[in-house]
Amino acid sequence: MRVLVTGAAGFLGSHLCDRLLADGHRVIGMDNYITGSPANLAHLEHHPAFQFVRHDVTTFIEVEGPLDAVLHFASPASPVDYLELPIQTLKVGSLGTHKALGLAKAKSARFLLASTSETYGDPLVHPQPETYWGNVNPVGPRGVYDEAKRFAEAMTMAYHRYHGLDTRIVRIFNTFGPRMRPHDGRVVSNFIIQALRGESLTVYGDGSQTRSFCYVDDLIEGIVRLFERGTADPTNIGNPGEFTVRQLAERVLALTGSKSEIVQRPLPVDDPRVRQPDITRAKQLLGWEPQVSLDEGLRRTIDFFRKSGTA
Ligand code: NAD
Ligand code: UDP
Repeated sequence: MRVLVTGAAGFLGSHLCDRLLADGHRVIGMDNYITGSPANLAHLEHHPAFQFVRHDVTTFIEVEGPLDAVLHFASPASPVDYLELPIQTLKVGSLGTHKALGLAKAKSARFLLASTSETYGDPLVHPQPETYWGNVNPVGPRGVYDEAKRFAEAMTMAYHRYHGLDTRIVRIFNTFGPRMRPHDGRVVSNFIIQALRGESLTVYGDGSQTRSFCYVDDLIEGIVRLFERGTADPTNIGNPGEFTVRQLAERVLALTGSKSEIVQRPLPVDDPRVRQPDITRAKQLLGWEPQVSLDEGLRRTIDFFRKSGTA
């Protein structure tokens, strides 16, 4: 297949490009580097099946020749990033998704949207099945991301229903691993960098809020299966293992051997209290479930940050 990946220079997009190339596909990576980095794709520079196009996907996307698939991953994803880039986040989720869908329709390509557990907002149903509609504050600071993704899902379903486009929606839960930006502000990279530098680990609030952390290799496997044999209905992909943020800080201290302290900082506005995917659908439809434990994933990520010299 010949495949376009938007957001290719980001954390997940770059891992997805690696996997698609390893599976024998030809890949066009597209990115405007707003939160991504050329370094994430540097190893593919001379790959004969990889091509990179620098482009902002909120404007018309032109790709010459046939295309079998569009995987739309472009969007700031860390809360720190999307709070700093509110308009760009809304634009890439709305205009960018529209352009990517329009391209898929013109090429009769399959389309996959990278959506998010944030569509559930601060959930009142726990764990979250795909049938839950969510509890999102549209005018709070996180609304720029949550509503952009909810719009993107609605737009994807409209192209599916009205134009008959072959579509997928993956609701990604917190994912971590090598190539996260050391300062993108997400909790796993923050804690690892702080622990390795001997700085205090910054727990927001009292640290009793929960998240479910999926290692990147597991996530990419789930996405590839969804792409190949899934359906148009949204599908959760994430690790159902649920931990408090304080427990995560303690695991990072134990695995790095760091003597850093844990300190409390104010809880961001609208920070979800709990988050855990119900992955029944992914298990039944795709035969998928995560294989990498939190500790093993953390070990691999700590190793990456140590070797990359960022800590
Ligand atoms: P990231 O910030 O590392 O990557 C996003 C990439 O999109 C960056 O390279 C950025 O430069 C690019 N981009 C943003 N706006 C663009 C535009 N207008 N035109 C072209 N490129 C643009 O984030 P990530 O963690 O790799 O997330 C990738 C996707 O997965 C996002 O859509 C995000 O919402 C979704 N997601 C990620 C997670 C997670 O835990 N990592 C969770 C839920 C959803
Ligand atoms: N968090 C924290 N310390 C940090 C960064 C984040 O305690 O240095 C908390 C944050 O408040 C949230 C959780 O960790 O409750 C996950 O935050 P992240 O930014 O990784 O993603 P989110 O799930 O909120 O989108």
